[in-house]
Amino acid sequence: MQRERVADDIYVFTSDLYAQVTAGAVVTPAGTILIDTLPFPQETLELKEMVERRLHSPVRYVVNTHYHADHTIGTCLFPDAAVVAHSACRRLLDTIGRAGLEQSQAQVPELADIFVVLPDIVLEEGCLNLHLGGKTVQLIPSPGHSQDSVIVLVPEDRVLFASDTVMPVPTLIDGDPECLINSLRLVASMPVDNVVQGHGEVILRGEINHTIDGDIRYLRTIQKKVAQLAQRGDGVDALKQISIESCGKSRIPMNGLVVDLHSANLRKLYGNIVVDRTDCR
Ligand SMILES: [Zn+2]
Repeated sequence: MQRERVADDIYVFTSDLYAQVTAGAVVTPAGTILIDTLPFPQETLELKEMVERRLHSPVRYVVNTHYHADHTIGTCLFPDAAVVAHSACRRLLDTIGRAGLEQSQAQVPELADIFVVLPDIVLEEGCLNLHLGGKTVQLIPSPGHSQDSVIVLVPEDRVLFASDTVMPVPTLIDGDPECLINSLRLVASMPVDNVVQGHGEVILRGEINHTIDGDIRYLRTIQKKVAQLAQRGDGVDALKQISIESCGKSRIPMNGLVVDLHSANLRKLYGNIVVDRTDCR
């Protein structure tokens, strides 16, 4: 696990074990607000040890930015904390989340003792502010990567936890491209100095607009290329011709996992087009 301090009282933890997932800690004298957890319990416990034992700030709240297991699986390791998320996150954790965890447990022995924790406090619409120890932590809906996604702003420190709304390659496998583009524009409009991505490195102020522009351009490019290919009547195998580089992104981040995410994005968009056509008949 990597640890980085992005403001006096704000830490970012990055998993060494899976897909560079990030979690954040806003540490205050009245306790800590955690934004997501890490995918392997041993790393989340290391994070907990650092915040609670070394910084003497018990975790009071755990924010789930969306229901995907790589971000929520460690929630159960904080039994004394209140869990905060979008109302859709609670619903999705209770259904798809439970099924997904069972599948993961069958493959990953380290997850044997993990269980799903449903959020105690949910955001139905608008924004939700948590006030603790002089800090404000604001949950703002940002659907697109998934329908329940939120971004988390700490205005006092000009830090935004963008979660998977911002990733080295935008990912819409479980979401919607138009919503994701709107949410990326929302991220670009935030008054911040640091954007913490859901996976990978923290983005500094000078790089934020450039990064978001590149992400939107990537999404527009894959929409166009997949539509052209489908219009020609090409089958799903032809998607292999659309390389990640030809859409303006590198294949290097996340130890190459971005290539798989890119392929899945293409298949999702292609599937949408085929479904639309079937609907028209
Ligand atoms: Zn993720």
